[in-house]
Amino acid sequence: SSIFAAVEMAPRDPILGLNEAFQADTRAEKVNLGVGVYYDDNGKIPLLAAVRAAEEARLQAAPPRGYQPIEGAQMYNKAVQGLLFGPQSALVEAGRAVTFEALGGTGALKVGADFLFRIDPKAQVLISNPSWENHRALFEAAGFDVGTYPYYDAQTRGVDFPAMLDGLRAADAGTIVVLHACCHNPTGADLDATQWAQVVEVIRERGLVAFIDMAYQGFADGIEPDAVALRLFAESGLEFFVASSFSKSFSLYGERVGALTIVTENKETSARVLSQVKRVVRTNYSNPPTHGGAIVAAVLTDAGLRKQWEDELAGMRDRIRLMRSALVEKIAAAGANQDFSFVVRQRGMFSFTGLSVDQVERLKQEFGIYAVSSGRICLAALNSGNIDYVANAIAQVVK
Ligand code: PLP
Repeated sequence: SSIFAAVEMAPRDPILGLNEAFQADTRAEKVNLGVGVYYDDNGKIPLLAAVRAAEEARLQAAPPRGYQPIEGAQMYNKAVQGLLFGPQSALVEAGRAVTFEALGGTGALKVGADFLFRIDPKAQVLISNPSWENHRALFEAAGFDVGTYPYYDAQTRGVDFPAMLDGLRAADAGTIVVLHACCHNPTGADLDATQWAQVVEVIRERGLVAFIDMAYQGFADGIEPDAVALRLFAESGLEFFVASSFSKSFSLYGERVGALTIVTENKETSARVLSQVKRVVRTNYSNPPTHGGAIVAAVLTDAGLRKQWEDELAGMRDRIRLMRSALVEKIAAAGANQDFSFVVRQRGMFSFTGLSVDQVERLKQEFGIYAVSSGRICLAALNSGNIDYVANAIAQVVK
């Protein structure tokens, strides 16, 4: 008999499964609001001009494709630290940060999780309720027990901050707390700077370990303002982890470009941590691929390309904002008996619409509009060609 006889069919990934259903739908007017990908107003994933210019230069230079160091290219890792902690960071100067070029934000989370498991396999991991669905799966796959801390309040459509703080205060010392730096996925509800400062204090008081996920830097207010949480952690003197990603901000999804940054108490600790995380990487994928990281590093370190990228990123951010306000207006104009103005207050790519499972199902069945069953929609999949259709459909299903 087959060695796979006992292997059961795994459940479909909820979001990728949605994509398959969307692909199979033959309706011309269908719209996919499920995935977390930025599309331009023509419904295309953009190839940023700054990326194209860097790629053309690299093609011309035709560099050899030797192995990278296990931690990736130094130029890339330095550039990542500059984005996370600012161009002049005391923490970076002091040698307190080690950065690994990783396979997207997901790869960074996994390497960090595997390393943490080697340090303390009994530690509890807490993710926000709700969170990006892969957070739980990923930390469980690393071996951890994963729980949640309170986060979203469906009544106010914001963060239930007192409950969140209480949840963190109740955690045991050594608990790993996964935090979304900005553009919370799936709710779009973020903390402000004052609240972040309080979170930092609770993390310190309770001896918790912050693991900050930064997948959308530049998608809320801009590169610098979106790093407010990181800057507060940096100032705190605490040790912490950051998984960052260029999938969205450089529109380089398939190239798998991200980074794991670990901040330690001093340079000597950093050297020991570096040596151990290298072992995690070495026994996993050995060293990161060259292309995506080289392109990002080239853009970030060239003044002209960097300016071009920042402008393009601002363009993506502004278009999403435009879609938010347009959606709210159009749903109201279509005669919905429910106010959607909260959508303009949410940040990042997503909106937690509050649509029920049944309403989401009706959008799919009756209109060919695909959303996550939680009611999460991706605003960046809306464009001038489909927004009226979507707004009308939403107005219909909430009537
Ligand atoms: N973290 C969050 C909160 C995300 O939403 C995503 C992507 O959707 C990621 C991490 C992972 O991004 P990447 O595609 O770079 O692995």
